[in-house]
Amino acid sequence: MTMTDKTHSSINPSRRRFVISASGAVGVAALASVLPRAAQAADLPAINPKDSAPAALAYTEDSASSTNAKHVAGSECLNCDFYQARGTTNPRGPCMIFPGKSVNAKGWCMSYVKVK
Ligand code: SF4
Repeated sequence: MTMTDKTHSSINPSRRRFVISASGAVGVAALASVLPRAAQAADLPAINPKDSAPAALAYTEDSASSTNAKHVAGSECLNCDFYQARGTTNPRGPCMIFPGKSVNAKGWCMSYVKVK
């Protein structure tokens, strides 16, 4: 019997199950961290433009209808640097300015920064 055999066979079965289970949990957590943010955004509630933060930044669900003086035609969440679902076909996605909420890909607000 080698040292490895002895060490391996001396592991308590319940401890072995715990280690296997724990490594599975770590694997799931690691997978979640590499999933596209858009996939994680699927469960985010839609932002309410009338809430104080979005209202203060003149957020609108339809950039084309914005009358804000800072709005430039063609600027929308989809081409904003803060939008986290670029490269997807999702109609909504997370925005770094409004954590925990989804914004409309066609939306816009005064924090808009054009993607370089
Ligand atoms: S910061 Fe950008 S992505 Fe976020 S709501 Fe404003 S325009 Fe849209």
